[in-house]
Amino acid sequence: MTIRSLAIIGLGLLGGSIGLAVKARAPQIATTGWDRDPAVRARAAERGLVGTVHDTPEAAVADADLVILCVPVGAMGDAARAIAPGLKPDAIISDVGSSKEAVAAALAQALPGACIIPAHPVAGTEQSGPDAGFATLFAGRWCIITPPEGVDPARLEALSDFWTSLGSKVELMDAAHHDLVLAVTSHIPHLIAYTIVGTASDLEDVTQSEVIKYSAGGFRDFTRIAASDPVMWRDVFLTNKGAVLEMLGRFTEDLTALQRAIRSGDGDTLFDLFTRTRAIRRAVIEQGQDDERPDFGRGHGE
Ligand code: NAP
Repeated sequence: MTIRSLAIIGLGLLGGSIGLAVKARAPQIATTGWDRDPAVRARAAERGLVGTVHDTPEAAVADADLVILCVPVGAMGDAARAIAPGLKPDAIISDVGSSKEAVAAALAQALPGACIIPAHPVAGTEQSGPDAGFATLFAGRWCIITPPEGVDPARLEALSDFWTSLGSKVELMDAAHHDLVLAVTSHIPHLIAYTIVGTASDLEDVTQSEVIKYSAGGFRDFTRIAASDPVMWRDVFLTNKGAVLEMLGRFTEDLTALQRAIRSGDGDTLFDLFTRTRAIRRAVIEQGQDDERPDFGRGHGE
């Protein structure tokens, strides 16, 4: 199967980036789009995020071989119901949601009988909206596809080829396993960042202005993550509850062990852990998942 036309539903960071990446790397694919917010639709048209921005979801998907839902995970069911009347019977329906089991269930319920192949490009920034997207967001990043049992292999291959054409590396994974892995690598780190920034802003004996003034000590790296979209992240935690709570339990145990090591002056435990974690950072860089320059390549006035 060859994908000739793509409809993008939700024209924020992910939707806009897919549209721009297709324009740059796969211009033979015609793109259409729709967002529920008229102001977002107008801005998407101005920026040329897709070839045609439509005023209704049915019109946007009418010719699409592939539809990608790029809305918050809690809105996937509503978005799927909105496009249902306009879909071609053989269209592939996919998404970019950050949790996969709940989204797969919501889509299956909203679109019975449709060819649904959920996916999650593991690429993003802390920004959102129609001005946030850029064409290179997916280059060199993983896209995890979580195909349901019995999926049509030709359509799975077409979706996989689509992501590869945008520069992504594709991995297939079971949805439940995806949710566990992403709980550790993405969801818990966001929760920790939200907590640290929240705790710092609640302190009474250290002023807010001091927290901001001395933020280069580490705090500012958490503030980037904690500036992420509140709707998106609320929905991620509500839809990946089981895996997040399981990983949070482990994290809390490890934190308690560190607390004990600090209290009892057990420097060896601290040193051993900090040595292991340094090796993880090296592996992240070696696999091309981050910038190897110190301090994420910030210039420091050079
Ligand atoms: P975003 O920039 O906020 O864009 C989402 C857009 O969808 C908004 O314009 C929103 O409009 C619109 N929308 C909400 N409900 C809708 C509905 N029912 N029908 C049509 N449009 C609707 O968010 P994003 O960062 O692109 O995230 C989109 C998805 O990508 C989420 O599922 C997220 O989990 C996933 N994802 C995000 C990242 C990341 O780093 N941001 C990375 C990977 C995957 P309103 O503003 O009116 O709500």
